[in-house]
Amino acid sequence: MESTETLDLTMFKLKQGTSSDTSVKTLARYYQDGIINLRPSYQRNEVINRKKASGLIESAILGIPLPPLYLFKDNDGKLEVIDGQQRLITFLGFLGRLTDMKTKLNGFSLTGLTILKNLNGKSFENDHFKFSLNEKILDFTIKTFTFEEEKGFEPTLKYEIFERLNKNPFPIKPNSFELWNCIYLSDFTRMIKEIAKTDDFNYGISRRSPDSLDLRMDNENDILRYMTLLGNYDKLKDRNDLPKSMMLLEVESHFLHKTPLSDIDLIKKDFLKILRKTRLLFGTSNVIGQLVNDKALRKTVYPNLTLMDVLLVTISDEDEKFIMKYRDELLKIITDFFKEEDNRAIIQNSKRGNARITNPYSDRVEYLKSKTFDIIRERYGVQKSKRINIRDLSLVDKLMEKQNGICPYCKNQIKPNDKYEIDHIQSVDDFGSNDELNLALLHEICNREKSNKKIIME
Ligand SMILES: [Zn+2]
Repeated sequence: MESTETLDLTMFKLKQGTSSDTSVKTLARYYQDGIINLRPSYQRNEVINRKKASGLIESAILGIPLPPLYLFKDNDGKLEVIDGQQRLITFLGFLGRLTDMKTKLNGFSLTGLTILKNLNGKSFENDHFKFSLNEKILDFTIKTFTFEEEKGFEPTLKYEIFERLNKNPFPIKPNSFELWNCIYLSDFTRMIKEIAKTDDFNYGISRRSPDSLDLRMDNENDILRYMTLLGNYDKLKDRNDLPKSMMLLEVESHFLHKTPLSDIDLIKKDFLKILRKTRLLFGTSNVIGQLVNDKALRKTVYPNLTLMDVLLVTISDEDEKFIMKYRDELLKIITDFFKEEDNRAIIQNSKRGNARITNPYSDRVEYLKSKTFDIIRERYGVQKSKRINIRDLSLVDKLMEKQNGICPYCKNQIKPNDKYEIDHIQSVDDFGSNDELNLALLHEICNREKSNKKIIME
């Protein structure tokens, strides 16, 4: 081991890096023994094509040094690749050691070589390699910087290093989930990544094909956007777009305040519920995309982002049972709605002719609702839905306290296992507000029985 004088460690506020030359053989052993984690959670899953990978192998055979690997070593002796994923995948793939990873590079044969042309088409298992080149590859060394927790390296600094190293040559998009994921590793970002894996997201509202590789975390970025919008709709409804700075604030606040897992689970549940309703209504396989885009004019069937904003805000407000009951008619009326180019333009808030339409979210949501859901409601005399932010858990507690735990309709106690609902004292149809003063907690049965009658609060 030599010192690390050549690396500007002050930049990272570090002194605990060690440098060594590590052979491909050793790295392969680390991987086989499960000591090295190639893809820690803050890493993007990078792809490297076969031609580029072949070039790296060619360099190794020619003895040309490769850029260093950056590793983090935790107190248990486990290693994480901060930078150098592509180089490691190339070597391990060429040796055929990546049997547990979804990659086409496992056991690849060389292609596109310009100097060692006679090796094109050859693989590690090929006789040519077995007799002359195997050892050359296995003994090839890569400069390795290791930051060790045991020597006082602060683990969170690995995200900073990762971010800096990734500015080149594969820059991460600024103001993106991808970047924030590197810096703010938290239960909140983890939860978003879990949602991105669900079928309801991938086959329901994702703007990508379900099978495509999402290397830049575009899906997660969309989910974060919808969550930010839905969670702050009252503040954002007068705007016509969502500022990205708000998405950053959303991530930061959960990270800084260490939002408890139980609250994060509620946010997740809330969002999954909206996804479920969307799928109840539209079914699977990107019906939304086909429905809202004019197929004759557009190649893509994946929907426009601000259109999805409006659609999700609208659906978030709708009752699951209502959607289920009138599903066919709702789908028909929404399909007809989007057949009109004018309607599409208004909802998408996109350019139409020379005039740029910049309606606020609330106008677009109300417009869509009035031409679709409300029409079905009027047709069947169904009551209007009420917007209550279910994320505000403290609301239930506050109401319980105010009412001394008594249901104002039947005057009996609301017991912990009783089903309850939040009721508007002055109904929404009568312009009753969502203010705490206008809300009461009732037994579910009592609320249904009461219907629209006004209750007297004591
Ligand atoms: Zn009651």
